[in-house]
Amino acid sequence: LEVIASVEPRIAEATRQELADQRGSLKLIASENYASPAVLLTMGTWFSDKYAEGTVGHRFYAACQNVDTVEALAAEHARELFGAPYAYAQPHSGIDANLVAFWSILAHRVETPALEKLGAKSVNDLTEQDWETLRHELGNQRLLGMSLDAGGHLTHGFRPNISGKMFHQRQYGTDPETGLLDYDRVAELAREFKPMVLVAGYSAYPRRVNFAKMREIADEVGATLMVDMAHFAGLVAGKVFTGDEDPVPHAHVTTSTTHKSLRGPRGGLVLAQEEFAADVDRGCPMVLGGPLSHVMAAKAVAFAEARRPEFAEYAQRIADNAKSLAEGFLTRGATLVTGGTDNHLVLLDVRSFGLTGRQAESALLEAGVVTNRNSVPQDPNGAWYTTGVRLGTPALTTRGFGSSEFDTVAELIVDVLSHTTAGTTKAGAPSKATFVLADGVAERTHARIDEM
Ligand code: PLP
Repeated sequence: LEVIASVEPRIAEATRQELADQRGSLKLIASENYASPAVLLTMGTWFSDKYAEGTVGHRFYAACQNVDTVEALAAEHARELFGAPYAYAQPHSGIDANLVAFWSILAHRVETPALEKLGAKSVNDLTEQDWETLRHELGNQRLLGMSLDAGGHLTHGFRPNISGKMFHQRQYGTDPETGLLDYDRVAELAREFKPMVLVAGYSAYPRRVNFAKMREIADEVGATLMVDMAHFAGLVAGKVFTGDEDPVPHAHVTTSTTHKSLRGPRGGLVLAQEEFAADVDRGCPMVLGGPLSHVMAAKAVAFAEARRPEFAEYAQRIADNAKSLAEGFLTRGATLVTGGTDNHLVLLDVRSFGLTGRQAESALLEAGVVTNRNSVPQDPNGAWYTTGVRLGTPALTTRGFGSSEFDTVAELIVDVLSHTTAGTTKAGAPSKATFVLADGVAERTHARIDEM
């Protein structure tokens, strides 16, 4: 930090403060974690200075021999870790991984057959008219994904996102009574809509998914199954999700982030069955430019860590702790979407406290509990104010929290929310954003957190 401070002291100070904040609060954001020193240090090297567009052994720049080593190792560890025939470690983020996946599916299913039919090797060989026809065809495909309020991600066909614009999209939700995925309904929608891509995976669904069933649905309608395991990749790596719950053998293409439950650097990953490998390998130049070689190096280190037996124990503790957290809420009378969890996250419905998600998130933050507000199915408050708070166990499990600590976390959260009331606007009207936290609650919560 002294080196940084000698150039821009305010950045050094913000960095120091970030460490203090992350350590001094309860980090319950389901998509966050604490990467190991080995992972963090690997990101801060001169690999950042290197350009390496292309792929291993086939670069558009000279002197990429060390980047080749790094990328090949990251892919090898990922293949071994997840039992995947092919791995692509270049995507800079989860969204990039999904874009690479979408475009490789479109290349495989639309572009390559069209080029073959026209006897062309590449799109550059097409006449203007054939190119226009192909562009139209590429933009005329259908995607069926999980809706945002049911727990899906923006990239699963949400209209304001590029995925909802590059595809004709339809969304599946969850059962309004149980909050659970209704596979029969997904199958019905798939038969009606006939998507080219069926997306499974989630950001805020507190249950496991049967990917074998999703593959059956995809096969029945001729869709490609893409699973986005960004949130639960750590549970797949740690073999908590196996058989029908392991997406990798069932999906044609599986995408992930590397920084959530997988505990690596901030980045993305694509795994594919052999059939899609060559198309995914064209991620650059199809979607990406120069890879972040320093981050690929850190991915290789993180995947190597995840291949150790300790990681499987860690992954099991993530799931066990989520159950303890859920129990802690239920015994204190709180409401959970789907009534519980069997993965790494819990979705607390804060209506019973008379609050919006935004008010709950802000009150908890004041007390040192870092969460994020989240929509619940059919959310009456919309995506900005929301009605839920999403809580995940990966980060605090890394800090060594176990069942009794997570029960205390539930106790603290219920205590804070029970002492929070909805506020008003300056003009005295009811507000969905402002809140009043009773005197002394923030202080006593901070004191309990300091003891943990
Ligand atoms: N996919 C899912 C399911 C996610 O939850 C997220 C992130 O929240 C992403 C993709 C996007 O990841 P990133 O923020 O790295 O682009």
